[in-house]
Amino acid sequence: AYRNFSSHPPEKERTLIVVKPDGVQRRLVGRIVQRFEQRGFKLVGLKLLQVSEDLLAQHYQQLRSKPFYPDLVQYMTSGPVVVMAWEGHQVIQSSRKMVGHTNPAEAQAGTVRGDFSLHVSRNVVHASDSPEGALRELQLWFQGQELLNWDCVDQFITCEDI
Ligand code: UDP
Repeated sequence: AYRNFSSHPPEKERTLIVVKPDGVQRRLVGRIVQRFEQRGFKLVGLKLLQVSEDLLAQHYQQLRSKPFYPDLVQYMTSGPVVVMAWEGHQVIQSSRKMVGHTNPAEAQAGTVRGDFSLHVSRNVVHASDSPEGALRELQLWFQGQELLNWDCVDQFITCEDI
């Protein structure tokens, strides 16, 4: 009965979410994953890794001239990160809202940054900010075969396939 019900079919999008080194150190990985699962998004890629300065320079290419960039590199390479690819309807804009304002002092309660962090230099998580950014970042952080296509048995509930 759900199938073809909607006149606004869901868009299948993917985005990159990174639990930054402070999030891993503070054992927040599970709680962050849980938020994306409970929202209804599908996990399509996941790994723990130590970021290289080279990858970071590509990831943050627009920030390389900023005064905080050296500190950002030190922070992001200070320990392992958890890199995730999430898929689902408007996941890029929804995950930006779930993550909250870049500066945790401005972030709403209920967002990851608003609930778990205080300062912009230790803001726990990254989320791609646009379709172009998401595509670029997913290609940068993941090999093609690391991203899986799989069917969710509750896909009618999560509106993935309305
Ligand atoms: N950042 C920082 N100081 C600043 C601005 C940004 O340390 O004044 C760091 C922070 O970790 C932020 C990242 O640089 O998440 C990338 O900044 P951007 O403006 O792209 O924000 P985001 O997309 O992460 O919300």
